[in-house]
Formats: sequence, structure tokens, C-alpha cells
Amino acid sequence: MNHISIKSYAKINLGLDVTGVLDNGYHTVKMIMQNISLYDSLYFEKRSSPKIILQTNLSYLPTNEKNLVYAAIKLFRETYHISNGVYANVVKKIPVAAGMAGGSGNAAATLITLNKLFDKNLSTEELMALGLKLGADVPYCILGGTALAEGIGEKLTPIPAPPKAKILIVKPGISISTQMVYQNLILDEQTVHPDIDSTLAAIKAGSLKDMCASLGNLLEDVSISLHPCIAEIKQQMLDNGAVASLMSGSGPTVFGIYDDESAAAKAYDYFKSGEYAAGTFLCDFI
Ligand code: ATP
Repeated sequence: MNHISIKSYAKINLGLDVTGVLDNGYHTVKMIMQNISLYDSLYFEKRSSPKIILQTNLSYLPTNEKNLVYAAIKLFRETYHISNGVYANVVKKIPVAAGMAGGSGNAAATLITLNKLFDKNLSTEELMALGLKLGADVPYCILGGTALAEGIGEKLTPIPAPPKAKILIVKPGISISTQMVYQNLILDEQTVHPDIDSTLAAIKAGSLKDMCASLGNLLEDVSISLHPCIAEIKQQMLDNGAVASLMSGSGPTVFGIYDDESAAAKAYDYFKSGEYAAGTFLCDFI
């Protein structure tokens, strides 16, 4: 086998709390991570010469070490003393810098694929430990599915998948710097934290209604203060039949949860005919 194609899935946060700050400045979190059916398509080929060659469909994405696919190939080659080079092609569909871990997902898909391409037989745990060197969200992206993430995002506990629903994704045409959001976050006694434990209990009990009633993202208010359109999109989703609507990660992506397929399809048409058409996707949990 000298070439492999793989889908690299996006994630949303069904809950996101920030629990503290470490001495090194990293924030500790308590998040519910959930893969959705929106994906990038990645292709990898073994090369006999040692060079790494990366191509993507987005001209503004780097194709050197700054790209997480390139960085993951480099890390894998160095760690396992691989002399072959790799050709990689990345077709992005997941919006970039959107709070959906697109880059981390690509890094995860790269490590999973190289493990097969070079017959390394590494366990999922070994791949996750390697992935952590590339970013706090990479171990989750290797594990996938539904998981509680704690620590800086790397302490993972798999949980059952939430009940079936349609997920509408709307990403406005703005970029948000995660760093800027955390800089503007004030954590004190007045901070009202989302009730992640209630969301977890609702998921485990299989109740979409209770899950939707308890959703919360501590970063939402900060991102909304920087970009009020996030609140407008949330409201438009609720006006168009969503049971709940929340920002993912540090934003600006907003998702709506629909228990009714035809309401979801109507809401999708509504956003597809408006200003956020390019960032509108209808998905499932996976
Ligand atoms: P997170 O939810 O983990 O904060 P995100 O969805 O907000 O991630 P990404 O799409 O991962 O953000 O992009 C963040 C930055 O990473 C971008 O500025 C982009 O230039 C860089 N980047 C590097 N490699 C990739 C890649 N393969 N795909 C997308 N972005 C990449």
C-alpha cells in the first residue's frame, strides 16, 4: 500500500467551560467534544525521495511547517526515523479558524494515516500522545466521536453519542483569534459557568430535550461582544425551529440543533439564501 485517502471530520462543542489558568498561561477546560459529518478530504502517498510535498485547495493556507498536516508528517518521520518522503493533498471544506478544530482534525488524520502507510502498528494511545505535541485538541481528534475533554483538552473520557438530530452549521465570514477571546475572558466569582455535568447527564440519559436545555459555552459572551452577528445567527436559528443554538469553541461558528428534519431543511434553505451562504452546512452527529 503506498497511498491512502481519509476523511477528516469537524467537531463542535456541546458544552465548553473554562475552569482555570495554569502558571504557563494555558487555560484548563471542561468541554464536550462531538464529531459532525462535515469533513475535509485528505490524500497521502509514500515517496521514495525524502521530501514532504503538500498541496491544498485554499491558496491562503500555508503548505510548509505552519500547516498542521506538514507538521504532523515531519513529527512522524522524525519520531520513527522514516527516510521516505510524503505527498499530501488537502481539500478543505471545514471553515478555517472557525472553532471546529479543522487544523487539529487534519493533524490527527495525518498521524492515523501515516501509522498505516508505514506499518507502524501504533496504538490509539500512542498516536494520541504523539498528537498532543501538535496541539491540545489533536488527541480528541484521533479518538473522535463524543468525549468529555478536561485538563487543557487532552484528558479524554469517551461518552455515549447524543440522540439523533440534525445539526445546522453557520459560519459568518469573520475570523476570531482564540488568543484574543481568552485575553478578554474574565474569570472571577461573578462568572456564571455552564452546567456541563447536566449536559453530560442528559446525553447519558438519551434526552435531546434536556441536553438542549443545558447547553452552554463560557466563551460565547466574549466572542459576541467582539462580533454581535454571532448572537443574531443564534436568534435566527431559534426563530427557524432550532431546539437550541450555541457557538462552537471560541467561534465564530454557530450551530443549531433540530429534532425535526423538515424544520432543519427549511432553516438550511433560509441561511443558504442569505449572507452566510458560503458557511452554511447541514450535518449529523457522527
Ligand atoms: P480550534 O477549534 O482547534 O480552535 P479552529 O477551527 O478555530 O481550531 P483551524 O481551522 O484549525 O482553527 O485554523 C487555525 C489556524 O491554523 C489557521 O490560522 C490556519 O492558518 C492554521 N492551519 C494550519 N494548518 C491547517 C490546516 N491543515 N487546516 C486549517 N488550518 C490550518
